[in-house]
Amino acid sequence: MPPMDLDRILKKPFAGDLLCEEEAAALLALPPGLRAPVHAAADRLNHDINGRRVSWVFNRNINFTNACTGTCAFCAYRVAPEDEGAYVLTPRQAVELARRTPGIDEVCMVGGLNPAVTLDHVLAIFAAVHGALPHVHIHALSPMEIEWYSQRAGLAVRETFAKLLEAGYGSLCGTAAEILVDEVRQEICPSKLPTARWVEIVRTAHDMGIRSTSTILFGHVERPEHIAVHLRVLRDLQARTGGITEFIPLPFVPYRTPLGKARGIREMVRKEKVFLLYAVSRLFFARLLPNLQTSWVKLGLDAAVESFRYGVNDLGGTLLEENITRTAGGRHGQALAPGEMAAAIRRAGRTPVRRDTLYHYLDAPVQA
Ligand code: SF4
Repeated sequence: MPPMDLDRILKKPFAGDLLCEEEAAALLALPPGLRAPVHAAADRLNHDINGRRVSWVFNRNINFTNACTGTCAFCAYRVAPEDEGAYVLTPRQAVELARRTPGIDEVCMVGGLNPAVTLDHVLAIFAAVHGALPHVHIHALSPMEIEWYSQRAGLAVRETFAKLLEAGYGSLCGTAAEILVDEVRQEICPSKLPTARWVEIVRTAHDMGIRSTSTILFGHVERPEHIAVHLRVLRDLQARTGGITEFIPLPFVPYRTPLGKARGIREMVRKEKVFLLYAVSRLFFARLLPNLQTSWVKLGLDAAVESFRYGVNDLGGTLLEENITRTAGGRHGQALAPGEMAAAIRRAGRTPVRRDTLYHYLDAPVQA
C-alpha cells in the first residue's frame, strides 16, 4: 500500500469517517515492517476514547453441559451425549458453583447442544442462580443456543428471550459468530446457524433491550477479506441497534481440534497478527463500539498486557473454571484472581477499573 494511502486511511477515524471493508482488509494484509503507524493510530484512538483506563470483570464460567451434537471442526470441548464423560448440571449444582466465588459480578453460562437438556432445564438453572445471587448478572447462551432451544421448545426467538428474562437472564454471549462469512462457516462449522440468522437473533435481543457481546474466531482458514466482512457485519448491526457492549477477538487454539489436524495448523497464530487485528478492529469500529477486549486465556497474561498498546481497553474476566480453551490445549491457566488482574494492568502503566458486564464502572474493593 502506498504511504499516502495508509496515511489517508489512518486519519479517517479521527475525522469521524468510517474505514471501508477493502481498507480494513488492506491493513490486515500489511507486512510487519509497515504496521507501526497502524498500531500507533489504534493506540491514539483508544486513548481518545478510553484514556488510560483498562477494565476487567470479576466473573466465573459455568458450563452447564459438555455434551453436544454439533460438528464444529475447531472445537475440542464437546463430547458425544452418550459419552461416559458427558454431564448436565442440576440447578442446585449450578448455584453451588456460582457461590464458590464470593463477590463475583457476573456468571457466564454456556453449554453444548445436548438433546437431553430442555429449555425448561436451562430456565430452572438461571432462575435458581438468580434467586440465590440476585445481584450477579447472568451472561449466557450464544445465538446458536438460542436457536437450538427455541426450535426444540417450538417457540419464536422473541418468546424464548421473554422466558429467559423472566428467569433472571441478563445478556447474550456474542459467541458462535466464528467468522460471519457463510463460505468459511461451511468449512469450520457447517451445522451452525448461517450469518444472516446469527445477525437476526442478536438483533432481536437488542430490540428487546438485551445487550450482547461480539466475537471473532480467527487464525485458521480465513483470509483478511473474510475478517473485514465480519467486522463490517458487526459494525452495521451496531450502527443499527447500539446493543453490542464489546468486541472480543479470539485466536484459534488448534492443538486438539479436528480443524488443526485436517489443515495442518499446529500452532496458534503469532501474537503480532493478533495485535494487528486488535489495532484494525479499534480503527474500524472507532467510536461506534468503544470496548475492545484481549484474551489472557488464549494469549497468556504477558501478551494480553502487551496488547494494551494496540487499542485494547479491557482485560476480560477472571473466568474461574475456563474449560473451553483448556480442552483445546490452551496453556495459560483457568483463572486469575482480581488482585492479579489489577496488578497486571498497573504494571503496564494503565489504570485498572473493575466493571460489570454492561461496562458500568464499579468502585467495589478488589479482593487479592
Ligand atoms: S463449538 Fe459449541 S456447538 Fe460447536 S461442537 Fe463445540 S460445543 Fe458444540
